[in-house]
Amino acid sequence: MVMTDLPELLAQIRAFRDEHLLPLEPLMLQVGVGAILPRLAELRGLGRELGIWAPHLPPALGGAGLSLTAFAQVSEELGRSPFGHYVLNCNAPDIGNQELLLHHGTPAQQAVYLAPLAAGEIRSAYAMTEPEHAGSNPVWLSTTAVHDGNEYVLNGHKWFVTGFEGADFVIVMAVTNPQAPKLHQRASQIIVPRGAPGVEHVRKIKIMGEEGDGWASHSELRFVNCRVPTSNLIGAEGSGFALAQERLGPGLVHHCMRWIGICERAFDLMCAYAATRELAPGKPLAQQQSVQHAIAERRAEINAARLLVMDTAHKIETLGAHGARVDISLIKFYVANVLNRVLDSAIQVHGGLGVTDDTMLAFWYRHERAARIYDGADEVHKTVVARQVMKAYGVDISILA
Ligand SMILES: Cc1cc2nc3c(=O)[nH]c(=O)nc-3n(C[C@H](O)[C@H](O)[C@H](O)COP(=O)(O)OP(=O)(O)OC[C@H]3O[C@@H](n4cnc5c(N)ncnc54)[C@H](O)[C@@H]3O)c2cc1C
Repeated sequence: MVMTDLPELLAQIRAFRDEHLLPLEPLMLQVGVGAILPRLAELRGLGRELGIWAPHLPPALGGAGLSLTAFAQVSEELGRSPFGHYVLNCNAPDIGNQELLLHHGTPAQQAVYLAPLAAGEIRSAYAMTEPEHAGSNPVWLSTTAVHDGNEYVLNGHKWFVTGFEGADFVIVMAVTNPQAPKLHQRASQIIVPRGAPGVEHVRKIKIMGEEGDGWASHSELRFVNCRVPTSNLIGAEGSGFALAQERLGPGLVHHCMRWIGICERAFDLMCAYAATRELAPGKPLAQQQSVQHAIAERRAEINAARLLVMDTAHKIETLGAHGARVDISLIKFYVANVLNRVLDSAIQVHGGLGVTDDTMLAFWYRHERAARIYDGADEVHKTVVARQVMKAYGVDISILA
């Protein structure tokens, strides 16, 4: 994809989303995502046929080879639908796993796992967080992978493994080098096929009352003497944390732009309702100053959020994820909070209707509260930013490990 094609691609994606994805929302709200999985599978096929599939992947893998800043714009368009990223095969955690295998997988791993994942024939999951330890301190893990001949034997407990149901493999973060002097050089990322002996699916975890299905669900897992070949190691032993950091930067740009897509949908619903809901004949809600202030404040926040994310995407492209790490933390907590404020204002303007499932607002409110928690809670990212700021004032703020 040459950059001049981007406006055309965005227009195609908008048309596809509006014609095929948005009309599925009322049914999903009534019966759950499980009931529309067959239709979503058909639409994945259509997305491939139309050539709008996995635009972040290189053409050799069926994508458009978009840069991060270009894909960020696609992510916003797709984010306006809860199915957009899934249907075009750029949903987390598949997108992160694709990029990890693309940049660090062996040729054999790319043939067995990346190729079918890129083609949308299989799905994947990513297991790092453990119930027994604070996910906010990612170097504190109990899951181990011990050498036994040409195999690793994994033992451990993970949860919030998004999309594990129906996934063909899960990339597991496990301690392989417990004696390494630096804490962040002790763990590795290892591919575990779903059917490997010793993979136990404990349960799907309900999020705000919803268990979800397939890609839109979150599982608790146990690994009990689970054996996989040592050739399933991604990158070098002990590089797990560095690889996790590398995927986090672009991953957060993708999430933030998806959230901005949700913000635009919610903002649009809010304004449309403020224009038509009358407090008295001829007196729409929009005549009230408090509603006007909500509209103006949320508009400013969404615009600011977009500029901040695009600036960060540009910095990742030019300085690398490490060079842009403070900006990455900044957008994570800022945009997650803008999203939650926009949804809250839109619900408030809708009154009782806002908390029903007659609009998409309550669905997003349930599902996106977690934006302030996953991939690093607000407080963790704020500490990263404050730490950098305070260096200039001679204060050294420690980040736990
Ligand atoms: C919907 C959802 C999907 C997820 N998907 C995945 C997945 O696919 N794979 C995966 O491995 N994990 C996943 N996670 C896990 C997620 O990354 C963790 O929940 C997150 O890192 C926080 O870890 P924790 O839940 O253990 O909270 P803890 O680390 O126990 O923190 C609890 C709270 O303490 C506060 N806190 C933490 N650190 C600090 C600090 N330094 N200063 C002040 N306060 C602090 C924060 O308010 C935080 O919310 C998912 C989580 C959710 C909710």
